[in-house]
Amino acid sequence: MKKETLIVHAGRKPEKQSGSVNPAIYQTSTILFPTQEAYDNAARGEEYYDPIFEGKTTDPSYGLAATPTIFALQEALCKLDGADYAFITPSGLSAISLAITSLVNHGDHILVSDSVYGPTRRFCIKDLSRFGIETTFYDPQIGSGIKDLIKPNTKVIFVESPGSLTFEIQDIPAIAKEAKKHNIAVVMDNSWASPLYFDSFSHGVDICIHAITKYIGGHSDIVLGAVTCRKDYAEPLTKHFKFSGLHVSPQDCYLALRGLRTMAVRLKQHQENALSITTWLKKRPEVSRILYPALPEHPGHDLWKRDFTGATGLFGIILKKHYPKEAIYKFIDSLKLFGIGCSWGGFESLILSLNPGISRSVTKWEPEGSYIRVYAGLENVDDLIGDLEQGFKHLKP
Ligand SMILES: *Cc1c(COP(=O)(O)O)cnc(C)c1O
Repeated sequence: MKKETLIVHAGRKPEKQSGSVNPAIYQTSTILFPTQEAYDNAARGEEYYDPIFEGKTTDPSYGLAATPTIFALQEALCKLDGADYAFITPSGLSAISLAITSLVNHGDHILVSDSVYGPTRRFCIKDLSRFGIETTFYDPQIGSGIKDLIKPNTKVIFVESPGSLTFEIQDIPAIAKEAKKHNIAVVMDNSWASPLYFDSFSHGVDICIHAITKYIGGHSDIVLGAVTCRKDYAEPLTKHFKFSGLHVSPQDCYLALRGLRTMAVRLKQHQENALSITTWLKKRPEVSRILYPALPEHPGHDLWKRDFTGATGLFGIILKKHYPKEAIYKFIDSLKLFGIGCSWGGFESLILSLNPGISRSVTKWEPEGSYIRVYAGLENVDDLIGDLEQGFKHLKP
């Protein structure tokens, strides 16, 4: 089955719920058993709890361990990623921290891309370090050069491609090839491309992270994350997930499934709108460069074409010069259709003035002009371009 078909069908079991197309929302803490022995068997089974649960192990003995609504989302994400296991977490960031902490011990070392999502960097520097785990940041475009940074105690190489602020495309197969030689896990934050536009496991990734909050949820109404993996990494992730007491709301899982079903058509439109807007922006006298991997002049375009099957709605603009803060803020504040806020992946367009340079440590971020990040939503693209056009009138040197 193609991914567009899986998105519609995966994880659904109408025959088990009176024919309803969508799963019920199981709002549960206590789970009751017919006999004490049945409870004992279930509780014992949970030591080896199989989170995808296809009848291979026992029923959960307690709502913390998951409910059928959560199973449905786990199963859908597994099928979509070609994974064996999926863990649903309270946020994208908690999926990142779960994946990394499952794989490291005191005294270990990890490698993290310098273009990584800011809170991932903060987690590594401010939190992992407390447990004696050392992080080295690396140039996102390092490719097979990663081998020079590998130490005997390196356990994880963390990749994010493209970076969600600066949009470098990483050569993940080249990095994974070096990682395999040393039995190091490649962990990827795949939130930008989603499972639809980047097939992580076939490119050498071992553990994949999705901020469900973004495209899978798709409607700016839930915060949720997921970690997926194949059998080889099931044990450390299953144990750490279970020990951590992480739980997600069945309502949020329901909304994630509801968002997932339309993700293919939404992403197509986000891509089309982003392509039209970036093509128009390139001709603006104020604009120097656009950071969007689908554009032929993007430095990572060839890698993107080789490894990805689509681009989504998020991109960056670099202006020809550094405008005073007041001018940039006037431009942004004058927009009627672009919301001012972080996150992305919902239906509405967004814009923000940001400085990616503040979260860099081994590569330089010194662009020729001011940086603005744009998220193309699902509005009519002529309306969006019209809004930007009137906005530029307020961008005065
Ligand atoms: C938003 C985001 C996350 C974190 O997701 P939350 O659900 O907000 O914690 C992780 N990675 C990337 C690239 C993101 O944009």
